[in-house]
Amino acid sequence: MTSQNAIEAQNIGRVYPADGGDVHALRDINLEVGQGQFVALRGRSGSGKTTLLNCLGGLDNPTSGVIWIQGVDLSTMDEAARTYWRRQHIGFVFQQMGLLPSFSAYENLDVMARLGGLPRRQRRERILESLERMDLLDYYDHRPYEMSGGQQQRIAIARALVTAPDLVLADEPTSELDSETTHQVLAVLQSFVRAQGTSVLLSSHDPIVDDYADRIITLSDGQISNGR
Ligand code: ADP
Ligand code: MG
Repeated sequence: MTSQNAIEAQNIGRVYPADGGDVHALRDINLEVGQGQFVALRGRSGSGKTTLLNCLGGLDNPTSGVIWIQGVDLSTMDEAARTYWRRQHIGFVFQQMGLLPSFSAYENLDVMARLGGLPRRQRRERILESLERMDLLDYYDHRPYEMSGGQQQRIAIARALVTAPDLVLADEPTSELDSETTHQVLAVLQSFVRAQGTSVLLSSHDPIVDDYADRIITLSDGQISNGR
Protein backbone atom coordinates (compact mmCIF):
# COMPACT_ATOMS: atom_id res chain seq x y z
CA MET A 1 0.00 0.00 0.00
CA THR A 2 1.66 3.16 -1.11
CA SER A 3 -1.13 5.59 -1.77
CA GLN A 4 -2.89 7.76 0.78
CA ASN A 5 -6.33 7.09 -0.56
CA ALA A 6 -9.29 7.43 1.76
CA ILE A 7 -10.51 4.05 0.55
CA GLU A 8 -8.64 1.33 -1.21
CA ALA A 9 -10.39 -1.99 -1.74
CA GLN A 10 -8.97 -4.94 -3.62
CA ASN A 11 -10.93 -7.93 -4.85
CA ILE A 12 -13.71 -7.62 -2.27
CA GLY A 13 -16.22 -10.43 -2.16
CA ARG A 14 -19.05 -11.00 0.29
CA VAL A 15 -20.99 -14.23 0.25
CA TYR A 16 -24.05 -14.76 2.42
CA PRO A 17 -24.80 -18.45 2.97
CA ALA A 18 -28.46 -19.14 2.25
CA ASP A 19 -30.75 -22.16 1.99
CA GLY A 20 -31.35 -21.90 -1.72
CA GLY A 21 -27.61 -21.46 -2.44
CA ASP A 22 -25.06 -18.82 -1.49
CA VAL A 23 -25.83 -15.18 -2.23
CA HIS A 24 -22.88 -13.39 -3.79
CA ALA A 25 -23.67 -9.88 -2.58
CA LEU A 26 -20.28 -8.51 -3.72
CA ARG A 27 -18.02 -9.95 -6.39
CA ASP A 28 -14.47 -8.87 -6.98
CA ILE A 29 -14.89 -5.18 -6.12
CA ASN A 30 -11.87 -2.96 -6.78
CA LEU A 31 -12.23 0.61 -5.66
CA GLU A 32 -10.14 3.63 -4.85
CA VAL A 33 -11.51 6.84 -3.36
CA GLY A 34 -9.08 9.73 -3.05
CA GLN A 35 -8.89 12.16 -0.13
CA GLY A 36 -11.66 14.73 -0.28
CA GLN A 37 -13.55 13.02 -3.10
CA PHE A 38 -17.34 12.90 -3.09
CA VAL A 39 -18.35 9.63 -4.73
CA ALA A 40 -21.89 8.52 -5.47
CA LEU A 41 -22.56 4.79 -5.26
CA ARG A 42 -25.51 4.12 -7.53
CA GLY A 43 -27.39 0.91 -7.97
CA ARG A 44 -30.79 -0.69 -7.66
CA SER A 45 -32.15 -2.27 -4.55
CA GLY A 46 -30.28 -5.53 -3.93
CA SER A 47 -27.22 -4.53 -5.97
CA GLY A 48 -24.94 -4.65 -2.90
CA LYS A 49 -24.63 -1.00 -1.82
CA THR A 50 -25.33 -1.55 1.88
CA THR A 51 -23.10 -4.61 2.00
CA LEU A 52 -20.23 -2.67 0.43
CA LEU A 53 -20.62 0.32 2.77
CA ASN A 54 -20.80 -1.97 5.80
CA CYS A 55 -17.64 -3.81 4.71
CA LEU A 56 -15.78 -0.55 4.04
CA GLY A 57 -16.81 0.84 7.43
CA GLY A 58 -15.77 -2.28 9.32
CA LEU A 59 -19.35 -3.10 10.36
CA ASP A 60 -19.20 -6.30 8.32
CA ASN A 61 -16.34 -8.46 7.09
CA PRO A 62 -15.84 -9.32 3.44
CA THR A 63 -15.37 -13.01 2.75
CA SER A 64 -12.46 -12.19 0.45
CA GLY A 65 -10.24 -9.27 -0.44
CA VAL A 66 -8.50 -6.48 1.47
CA ILE A 67 -9.66 -3.02 2.48
CA TRP A 68 -7.57 -0.07 3.60
CA ILE A 69 -9.22 3.02 5.07
CA GLN A 70 -6.77 5.92 5.36
CA GLY A 71 -4.08 3.31 4.81
CA VAL A 72 -5.28 1.14 7.69
CA ASP A 73 -6.40 -2.48 7.28
CA LEU A 74 -9.22 -2.75 9.82
CA SER A 75 -9.21 -6.55 9.70
CA THR A 76 -5.91 -6.57 11.59
CA MET A 77 -7.53 -4.94 14.65
CA ASP A 78 -9.52 -6.62 17.39
CA GLU A 79 -13.14 -5.55 17.83
CA ALA A 80 -12.48 -2.96 20.55
CA ALA A 81 -9.63 -1.29 18.66
CA ARG A 82 -11.65 -1.30 15.47
CA THR A 83 -14.66 0.33 17.13
CA TYR A 84 -12.47 3.02 18.66
CA TRP A 85 -10.69 3.70 15.38
CA ARG A 86 -13.97 3.78 13.48
CA ARG A 87 -15.51 6.37 15.82
CA GLN A 88 -12.58 8.68 15.29
CA HIS A 89 -12.13 8.32 11.55
CA ILE A 90 -15.45 7.36 9.96
CA GLY A 91 -18.85 9.03 10.10
CA PHE A 92 -21.94 7.02 9.21
CA VAL A 93 -25.27 8.30 7.93
CA PHE A 94 -28.03 5.76 7.53
CA GLN A 95 -31.40 5.82 5.82
CA GLN A 96 -32.99 5.09 9.20
CA MET A 97 -31.27 7.97 10.88
CA GLY A 98 -30.93 6.43 14.30
CA LEU A 99 -31.36 9.70 16.17
CA LEU A 100 -32.02 9.25 19.87
CA PRO A 101 -35.69 10.29 20.21
CA SER A 102 -35.60 11.68 23.75
CA PHE A 103 -32.40 13.67 23.12
CA SER A 104 -32.23 17.16 21.68
CA ALA A 105 -30.34 17.90 18.47
CA TYR A 106 -27.43 19.20 20.57
CA GLU A 107 -27.40 16.07 22.74
CA ASN A 108 -27.53 13.75 19.72
CA LEU A 109 -24.33 15.37 18.44
CA ASP A 110 -22.80 15.38 21.90
CA VAL A 111 -23.18 11.60 22.23
CA MET A 112 -21.20 11.09 19.02
CA ALA A 113 -18.60 13.71 19.99
CA ARG A 114 -18.00 11.88 23.27
CA LEU A 115 -17.82 8.44 21.61
CA GLY A 116 -15.36 9.91 19.11
CA GLY A 117 -13.15 11.06 21.96
CA LEU A 118 -13.39 14.81 21.37
CA PRO A 119 -11.93 16.62 24.38
CA ARG A 120 -14.53 18.31 26.56
CA ARG A 121 -13.41 21.87 25.84
CA GLN A 122 -13.66 21.29 22.08
CA ARG A 123 -17.03 19.59 22.11
CA ARG A 124 -19.36 22.54 22.58
CA GLU A 125 -17.67 24.61 19.89
CA ARG A 126 -17.65 21.75 17.41
CA ILE A 127 -21.27 20.82 18.05
CA LEU A 128 -22.46 24.39 17.56
CA GLU A 129 -20.31 24.77 14.45
CA SER A 130 -21.74 21.54 12.98
CA LEU A 131 -25.31 22.61 13.71
CA GLU A 132 -24.64 26.00 12.15
CA ARG A 133 -23.20 24.44 8.97
CA MET A 134 -26.43 22.47 8.62
CA ASP A 135 -28.41 25.66 9.28
CA LEU A 136 -29.89 24.14 12.42
CA LEU A 137 -28.50 26.29 15.19
CA ASP A 138 -31.98 27.54 16.07
CA TYR A 139 -33.08 23.93 16.61
CA TYR A 140 -30.32 22.89 19.00
CA ASP A 141 -32.77 22.11 21.82
CA HIS A 142 -35.44 20.47 19.65
CA ARG A 143 -36.01 16.73 19.78
CA PRO A 144 -36.16 14.78 16.50
CA TYR A 145 -39.96 14.48 16.51
CA GLU A 146 -40.21 18.28 16.63
CA MET A 147 -38.38 18.55 13.32
CA SER A 148 -39.19 17.79 9.68
CA GLY A 149 -37.69 14.79 7.89
CA GLY A 150 -35.17 17.01 6.12
CA GLN A 151 -34.12 18.66 9.37
CA GLN A 152 -33.75 15.27 11.04
CA GLN A 153 -31.54 14.01 8.23
CA ARG A 154 -29.42 17.17 8.48
CA ILE A 155 -29.03 16.45 12.22
CA ALA A 156 -27.90 12.92 11.35
CA ILE A 157 -25.34 14.36 8.90
CA ALA A 158 -24.15 16.97 11.41
CA ARG A 159 -23.74 14.16 13.93
CA ALA A 160 -21.68 12.08 11.49
CA LEU A 161 -19.43 15.08 10.83
CA VAL A 162 -19.04 16.41 14.37
CA THR A 163 -15.83 14.45 14.98
CA ALA A 164 -14.39 15.73 11.66
CA PRO A 165 -13.98 12.17 10.34
CA ASP A 166 -11.69 11.45 7.38
CA LEU A 167 -14.47 9.54 5.64
CA VAL A 168 -18.26 9.67 5.62
CA LEU A 169 -20.20 6.58 4.54
CA ALA A 170 -23.81 7.49 3.81
CA ASP A 171 -26.31 4.74 2.97
CA GLU A 172 -29.29 6.14 1.05
CA PRO A 173 -29.47 9.20 3.30
CA THR A 174 -32.04 10.94 1.10
CA SER A 175 -34.36 8.07 0.21
CA GLU A 176 -37.08 9.24 2.61
CA LEU A 177 -36.93 12.85 1.43
CA ASP A 178 -38.77 14.68 -1.35
CA SER A 179 -36.66 15.97 -4.21
CA GLU A 180 -36.46 19.59 -3.03
CA THR A 181 -35.33 18.50 0.44
CA THR A 182 -32.92 16.03 -1.15
CA HIS A 183 -31.28 18.91 -3.03
CA GLN A 184 -31.03 20.97 0.17
CA VAL A 185 -29.53 18.14 2.18
CA LEU A 186 -27.01 17.20 -0.52
CA ALA A 187 -25.98 20.83 -1.01
CA VAL A 188 -25.23 21.37 2.68
CA LEU A 189 -23.48 18.01 2.90
CA GLN A 190 -21.34 18.92 -0.10
CA SER A 191 -20.32 22.29 1.28
CA PHE A 192 -19.66 20.85 4.75
CA VAL A 193 -17.40 18.08 3.48
CA ARG A 194 -15.61 20.45 1.12
CA ALA A 195 -14.89 22.76 4.07
CA GLN A 196 -13.53 19.87 6.15
CA GLY A 197 -11.74 18.01 3.35
CA THR A 198 -13.78 14.90 4.14
CA SER A 199 -14.12 12.04 1.65
CA VAL A 200 -17.64 10.76 1.03
CA LEU A 201 -19.10 7.59 -0.37
CA LEU A 202 -22.87 8.01 -0.62
CA SER A 203 -25.24 5.36 -1.90
CA SER A 204 -28.48 6.12 -3.64
CA HIS A 205 -30.79 4.93 -6.34
CA ASP A 206 -31.70 8.57 -7.03
CA PRO A 207 -29.99 10.27 -10.02
CA ILE A 208 -30.14 13.62 -8.15
CA VAL A 209 -26.97 12.63 -6.27
CA ASP A 210 -25.02 12.67 -9.55
CA ASP A 211 -25.21 16.48 -9.49
CA TYR A 212 -23.23 16.61 -6.24
CA ALA A 213 -20.65 13.90 -6.81
CA ASP A 214 -17.15 14.16 -8.27
CA ARG A 215 -17.52 10.59 -9.44
CA ILE A 216 -20.27 8.04 -9.91
CA ILE A 217 -19.81 4.33 -9.39
CA THR A 218 -22.58 1.96 -10.37
CA LEU A 219 -23.09 -1.41 -8.74
CA SER A 220 -25.13 -4.11 -10.35
CA ASP A 221 -25.44 -7.65 -9.01
CA GLY A 222 -22.55 -7.02 -6.65
CA GLN A 223 -20.16 -5.83 -9.33
CA ILE A 224 -18.97 -2.41 -10.37
CA SER A 225 -20.39 -1.92 -13.82
CA ASN A 226 -18.72 1.42 -14.54
CA GLY A 227 -16.17 3.81 -13.18
CA ARG A 228 -13.21 3.24 -10.86
P1 ADP B 1 -28.62 -2.78 -1.60
O1 ADP B 1 -28.16 -2.04 -0.40
O2 ADP B 1 -28.01 -2.27 -2.88
O3 ADP B 1 -30.10 -2.85 -1.68
P2 ADP B 1 -27.70 -5.13 -0.18
O4 ADP B 1 -26.25 -4.97 0.09
O5 ADP B 1 -28.63 -4.87 0.93
O6 ADP B 1 -28.08 -4.29 -1.48
O7 ADP B 1 -27.95 -6.62 -0.68
C1 ADP B 1 -27.18 -7.24 -1.70
C2 ADP B 1 -27.63 -8.70 -1.82
O8 ADP B 1 -27.27 -9.41 -0.65
C3 ADP B 1 -29.12 -8.88 -1.99
O9 ADP B 1 -29.32 -9.98 -2.85
C4 ADP B 1 -29.59 -9.19 -0.60
O10 ADP B 1 -30.77 -9.95 -0.63
C5 ADP B 1 -28.43 -9.99 -0.04
N1 ADP B 1 -28.27 -9.82 1.41
C6 ADP B 1 -28.06 -8.66 2.08
N2 ADP B 1 -27.92 -8.88 3.40
C7 ADP B 1 -28.07 -10.22 3.58
C8 ADP B 1 -28.03 -11.08 4.73
N3 ADP B 1 -27.81 -10.61 5.95
N4 ADP B 1 -28.23 -12.41 4.52
C9 ADP B 1 -28.44 -12.90 3.28
N5 ADP B 1 -28.48 -12.15 2.16
C10 ADP B 1 -28.30 -10.83 2.31
MG1 MG C 1 -29.23 -0.88 0.98
